[in-house]
Amino acid sequence: THFGFESVSEEEKGGKVHQVFESVAKKYDLMNDMMSLGIHRVWKDFLLWKMQPFPGTQLLDVAGGTGDIAFRFLNYVQAQHRRKQKRQLRTQQNLSWEEIAKKYQNKEDPLGGSFVMVCDINKEMLKVGKQKAVGQGYDTGLAWVLGDAEELPIHDDKFDVYTIAFGIRNVTHIDRALQEAYRVLKPGGRFLCLEFSQVSNPVISRLYDLYSFQVIPVLGEIIAGDWKSYQYLVESIRKFPSQEEFKEMIEDAGFQKVTYESLTRGIVAIHSGFKL
Ligand code: SAM
Repeated sequence: THFGFESVSEEEKGGKVHQVFESVAKKYDLMNDMMSLGIHRVWKDFLLWKMQPFPGTQLLDVAGGTGDIAFRFLNYVQAQHRRKQKRQLRTQQNLSWEEIAKKYQNKEDPLGGSFVMVCDINKEMLKVGKQKAVGQGYDTGLAWVLGDAEELPIHDDKFDVYTIAFGIRNVTHIDRALQEAYRVLKPGGRFLCLEFSQVSNPVISRLYDLYSFQVIPVLGEIIAGDWKSYQYLVESIRKFPSQEEFKEMIEDAGFQKVTYESLTRGIVAIHSGFKL
């Protein structure tokens, strides 16, 4: 494994990952937009579309960083809940829309019992996420927990959905993280992973390599004053297993009905599996 110009062992990887995210936390959201030209937002929206949560869904977002998946989840569930309440009120009581609006505003829980727990190993990333939550007015159904994906501080069979977005490639022992995902999901629960993957088209792959190795570290230096961290991020993307290899790893952890979908020519993929 390489971090910048030094070689690091498997065991050192955890420490390096920690350093990287500690150093990039404050500029993380801006860099995400710059590096992906904003496309990461579309990929994350697509993850929510695949999840299709409903009011009541309990989500654990591991390596959740600054909360991008959690906030999308809360927005999605809240909108679903509002629609459901309006439908119910309208059909049951034949009220006018003004009366319906008044009624559902008075309901106490805008999420219909849904809840998201963001778990991340880095307190700086969580700190930025918490500040965003306050700034954007998210005050219910959200918890922030410091913890390692390889040893989650959570009891067995607790969540309906486990997500990990752009996080699993940073974990030292991916197999342990997958076993932990399996453990904390309820029977019937779903695992969803959004991660960089492998581009199969050779021309696109060449262009993508040029962009990643020539442009991203430069952007990292200009915006965050940190060439090495961004060079590490690019290298960790290239080392991550292919779509098929990762699918097998998920199956080895015990998940069933494992499928994946490549997005943007395989630059990223979403893997899905169920604990049945
Ligand atoms: N999920 C967020 C998103 O999509 O914007 C953040 C992704 S960021 C690229 C990777 C995150 O993984 C960082 O916040 C980092 O602290 C976290 N991370 C790395 N290793 C971890 C581990 N072993 N357990 C939990 N989180 C970890």
